[in-house]
Amino acid sequence: MEEQDERALHWADSTAEKIIRERGDKEPYVCASGITPSGTVHIGNFREIISVELVVRALRERGKRVRFIYSWDDYDVFRKVPDNMPNREVLAGYLRMPITLVPDPHTPNEPATPERNYARANEREIESLLPLVGVGPEYLYQAERYGASTYAAGIRTALEKRETIRAILDEHRSEALPSDWLPVSVFCTRCSHDSTSVDRWDEGWELTYRCANCGNAESLDLRRSGAVKLLWRVDWPMRWKAEGVDFEPAGKDHHSEGGSFDTAKKIVQAVYGGQPPITFQYDFIGIKGMGGKISSSHGEVISLRDVLEIYQTEVVRYLFAGPRPNTEFAISFDLDVIKIYEDYDKTERIYFGLEEVDEKRRQKEARIYELSQVAEVPKRMPLQVPFRHLCNLLQIHLGDIERVVGELAAAGAGIDEPGRERLRTRARCAWSWITRYAPLDFRFSLREPQEAPVALEEGPRRAIALLRARVERLEGFDEKALADELYAIAREAGIDAKELFKASYRVLIGAERGPRLASFILTVGKERVLALLAPY
Ligand SMILES: [Zn+2]
Repeated sequence: MEEQDERALHWADSTAEKIIRERGDKEPYVCASGITPSGTVHIGNFREIISVELVVRALRERGKRVRFIYSWDDYDVFRKVPDNMPNREVLAGYLRMPITLVPDPHTPNEPATPERNYARANEREIESLLPLVGVGPEYLYQAERYGASTYAAGIRTALEKRETIRAILDEHRSEALPSDWLPVSVFCTRCSHDSTSVDRWDEGWELTYRCANCGNAESLDLRRSGAVKLLWRVDWPMRWKAEGVDFEPAGKDHHSEGGSFDTAKKIVQAVYGGQPPITFQYDFIGIKGMGGKISSSHGEVISLRDVLEIYQTEVVRYLFAGPRPNTEFAISFDLDVIKIYEDYDKTERIYFGLEEVDEKRRQKEARIYELSQVAEVPKRMPLQVPFRHLCNLLQIHLGDIERVVGELAAAGAGIDEPGRERLRTRARCAWSWITRYAPLDFRFSLREPQEAPVALEEGPRRAIALLRARVERLEGFDEKALADELYAIAREAGIDAKELFKASYRVLIGAERGPRLASFILTVGKERVLALLAPY
């Protein structure tokens, strides 16, 4: 019975209920996400963050207290300079050091500080964007925590139970780990490189290492030095236990058999006496329609910032709240952008009861709509201006966003400030889409009346003259009536409707194709259309 109920629930709700059911009453529930900021945090990484946020929201709506933590795994080593980073040559001098000790790529000649470094630059970028999409986790900086010896006991336990860990990891390795293997790496305290080897561990808190890079050799106390770090596959389960994590999803690369989630599950139980978190696997995100627009210097990394340039915040959430996490989908930058906005608007109309759909569909769409909101769900339906229409308006007004928003807001009676802000954001997105990604035949600019008139053959010229006469009394037409009228004009002039459309686009925008003509004429307005039709 229970299973059946769940199928009707949104995945965030069914996951929340599973957490409550399996973990029992708990105060608070800990939901976790995290990543190594070794490069630009891309939109695929964002899928994990937003998936956790949706589950956190579902738990809170059930009256539960939740701790939402986001781990910056910034005590990782700088392995490779990503292609999209500026000042790559300078950065390359810092390989094998922790990424918090690598300079900020934008100021590579200033030494790294706790406030300004390579990891921090990548962290700041996403930390500044997440509040815009309604995501506000508690950030944990692992370099800081390791540095403060927070995990000394967890490291010692891993050293003590290294044989158990080795056996778990060896199950999935083609070649067994060496007999002197230890589950730690050490950053040399003199040169900061991790090119070190452990000579001795005293079965307690002390560890002796030697550095191949600078020759330094010394003994460290785990309780006082932050130089010793657990290897990733052990670090993860150790922190599950330390932080009491109840829920954490992972990408499908981690979730495969023998993947790091799989071994972490075994290690948390066998080594730390903990319980693996409830989880699900999320799939990759594709990118569609960027075409040749990404230069190689961009390194093909699409970040949340790129997506927010084209999609308003609610639509970004909608993209991720709709599909189940284990399904792959692509974020479009091509003509599908229009369709996605239309789908979002439809979901909004369904939520406000303005579309006839069956009850099951209504519930599903309404829940997706709620989860797509950054803050509270609007009390009334916001003014909907279709994305396609905004694209046309902005092109007619040469990208004057304030003017377009002002005119639309004046026409949409009673628009409130948040509604105006949404409209402004959507208009900004529409204009960046037009100027950066829209197919060429979607772009236009109105001709200027002072330009030389386009030469037309007799039939089309006659039709344009008839059109001019109709536009003189444009007030009498709505879109449907004007569209019908266009066909009547073509018949009267003895030409094909197709020829009339082509001639109209040539006269108005100097192109053979353009936006839907009747609607376009109404949008441009009588005065400006007449100025262009006057010579005929
Ligand atoms: Zn060294």
